Amino acid sequence: MEIIAVPAFTDNYIWIVHDEESGETAVVDPGDASPALAECERRGWTITQVWNTHHHWDHTGGNAKIKEATGALVSAPAAEEIRVRDVGLSEGSELRIGNHLGRVIEIPGHTLGHVALVFDDPRMAFVGDTLFAMGCGRLFEGTAQQMHHSLQRIADLPGDTALYCGHEYTLANARFAEHAEPENEAIAVRYERVRAQREKNEITLPTTVSEERETNPFVRATNWEEFARLRAEKDSFRS
Ligand SMILES: [Zn+2]
Repeated sequence: MEIIAVPAFTDNYIWIVHDEESGETAVVDPGDASPALAECERRGWTITQVWNTHHHWDHTGGNAKIKEATGALVSAPAAEEIRVRDVGLSEGSELRIGNHLGRVIEIPGHTLGHVALVFDDPRMAFVGDTLFAMGCGRLFEGTAQQMHHSLQRIADLPGDTALYCGHEYTLANARFAEHAEPENEAIAVRYERVRAQREKNEITLPTTVSEERETNPFVRATNWEEFARLRAEKDSFRS
């Protein structure tokens, strides 16, 4: 299984999942069709599936064009308004690419129908705009209780699960994380690493569940009230 990040817009990542064995290719959250189609063409891959984590345009805007160009099957949250959807995803839905079986967990908060796509072999999860490296998504539709619960569901996955997030927000998140937990050595070390990576314009993803347990204040919040306080503080944080 090969997983490629395709940058889109200012800071989005479109993830391309290619299974050599079956020749299948899935594109996760294609806000823009062109860069995803171009990357797959360059590699000689034909897109067979599109997976969406939530309805925001910067994650679904390319659905129609990719489907038109390739005939790909579009799987997207059942509970959200998504224009081009063949299969509705909800808690417990299964996804398949070649012989790799994934399952859907509902993680509301950023949007109400937001889902994560979780695979055991290899261990990976596409978490959209719910969890970011060292941070989390804004509460556009859901409540702090919902988001806290959703982040804990992700944090409960095996520690070596690779997490593929929808945006490159790690540096700004690291600044806030250091502000929130000035005594946390793991955060300080990661902040330096991320700063060096971003200076070279390198990607900081995927992250892992265990790294987030150690360095993500939103994951580390022990109850929803603490989470809510952090989220509100981050919304107005200027580094
Ligand atoms: Zn979003």
